[in-house]
Amino acid sequence: MNTSPTPRIAVIGAGPGGLTCARILQLHGIDVTVHDHASGPDARDQGGTLDLHEDNGQIALREAGLLEEFFRLSRPEGQEMRQLDPQGTLLFHHTAGEGDRFKPEIDRGQLRDLLLNSLRPGTVRWGRTLEAVAGPEEGPRQLHFADGTTVEADLVIGADGAWSRVRRALSPAVPRYTGVSFLEAWFHDVENRHPYIAQLVGQGSATAADGDRALFAQRSSGDHIRVYVIQRVPADWITASGLTVQDTDGIRALLLERFRDWSPALRRLIGDNDGRYVDRPIHALPVPHTWDHNPTVTLLGDAAHLMPPLGVGVNLAMLDACELALALANHHCVDDALRAYEKTLLPRSTEMQRLLDGGAEHLLSTELPDFARQEEA
Ligand SMILES: Cc1cc2nc3c(=O)[nH]c(=O)nc-3n(C[C@H](O)[C@H](O)[C@H](O)COP(=O)(O)OP(=O)(O)OC[C@H]3O[C@@H](n4cnc5c(N)ncnc54)[C@H](O)[C@@H]3O)c2cc1C
Repeated sequence: MNTSPTPRIAVIGAGPGGLTCARILQLHGIDVTVHDHASGPDARDQGGTLDLHEDNGQIALREAGLLEEFFRLSRPEGQEMRQLDPQGTLLFHHTAGEGDRFKPEIDRGQLRDLLLNSLRPGTVRWGRTLEAVAGPEEGPRQLHFADGTTVEADLVIGADGAWSRVRRALSPAVPRYTGVSFLEAWFHDVENRHPYIAQLVGQGSATAADGDRALFAQRSSGDHIRVYVIQRVPADWITASGLTVQDTDGIRALLLERFRDWSPALRRLIGDNDGRYVDRPIHALPVPHTWDHNPTVTLLGDAAHLMPPLGVGVNLAMLDACELALALANHHCVDDALRAYEKTLLPRSTEMQRLLDGGAEHLLSTELPDFARQEEA
C-alpha cells in the first residue's frame, strides 16, 4: 500500500477529465504527469461545442479555479434549442433567460486550452501512447508506451477515453456498438455562406427526428455549425453500401435518398455541408461497468463509464476528475483516497449508465424531451 507523501501519479489521457484532474492536483501541491497519445495539443480535431452543467462540469471548474474564465469564454445564448418535425414545423423553442448560466456552451478547443494553459509547463507529455499497465497490484506499476519507453508510477489514473488501455488492468469490459451512428457534417462562415442554415439553427441547436433518423445541428463560436446525421444502421453502413467515408458525393446521395420525405430546408443540413463527413458509430460500455478495488489503478470519465452521447459525458468526466483529485488531496494514503473516490463514483456512474442505457435510441425519438413538455405546460 502506497503511503509515500509524494506518490508518483501518472494520468493517461489529456482529455477534459485528465486535464481537470491534473489541474486540481497541482492546485493542492501534488505532482502529476499526464501522458497523451496525440502528437501535440493541436493534433486532435477539437471541433464542436458542449455545455457544462451547473451541477457537475461547473463544480469541477470552480474547484479548478477556472469558473470565472469559463463564464467569460462561454456562450449562454448557445442554450437556445429548437425542435422541429421532419417537415420543418417548429414544435418547441427554448431561449435562455437573462443571466441563465445553468449550462452555457463552450467550444471543445477553448475548454481544452483553458485547462491546458492552467497546468505547469511540461505537465503533459505528448506523443505517448500507452500500450499496457504492468507490475504488481500493490505497485510500483510500469507503464509501457508504444515508443518503447517505460515509466514507473505509484498510481495510474486511466482518463484515456472510450478505448482505454488502462481499463484492461481492472476489467475485461469492452465498448459495444449501440446500433446508432452519427455522421458529422460541418458548415463554415454560416452567416455569409449558409444564411438559411444559420437562421434555422439560431444561436444554439435545432433537432428533428422521425423515429428512424434524426438531425442535430449545433452552432459553435466563430460562425461554424456542426450537424450530426443520426441513423439506426449497422456500424459498417458506409462500406456495406459500397462506399468509403472519403466518398462525400456518394454518401450525400445516399443520405438525400434516405431523407427524401423530409422538408427541403432540413435536407440542406445533409447536402450543403463543407468538406467531408466524419463517421462516428456510437459505442457504450456494458451496464453496469464496475471493477474490484485496486490500490494502484483507477479510472475516470469515458474510460470508467462510456455512455451514449446525451450531453453529459464531459460533465461527468470532469466531476469524476474533481472528486478523485480532492480525495487524493484529503487522504494520507493513495489506497484510502481511491476507496473514497470509488465509493461515490461507482454508484453514480451505475445509476447514470442505467438511465442512459439504450439512450442512443432516444435521439431518434419523435417525442419532445421531458423538459420541453414541462415548459409547454
Ligand atoms: C459524437 C459525440 C458527441 C458528444 N457530444 C457531447 C456533448 O455535447 N456534451 C458532453 O458532455 N459530452 C459529449 N460527448 C461525450 C464526450 O465527448 C466524452 O464523454 C468526453 O470527451 C469524455 O472525456 P474523457 O476525458 O473521459 O475522455 P476523452 O475526451 O476521450 O479523452 C481521452 C484522451 O486520452 C487520450 N488517449 C486515448 N488512448 C490513449 C492511449 N492509449 N495512450 C495515451 N493517451 C490516450 C486521447 O488522445 C484523449 O486526449 C460526445 C461524444 C460523442 C462520440
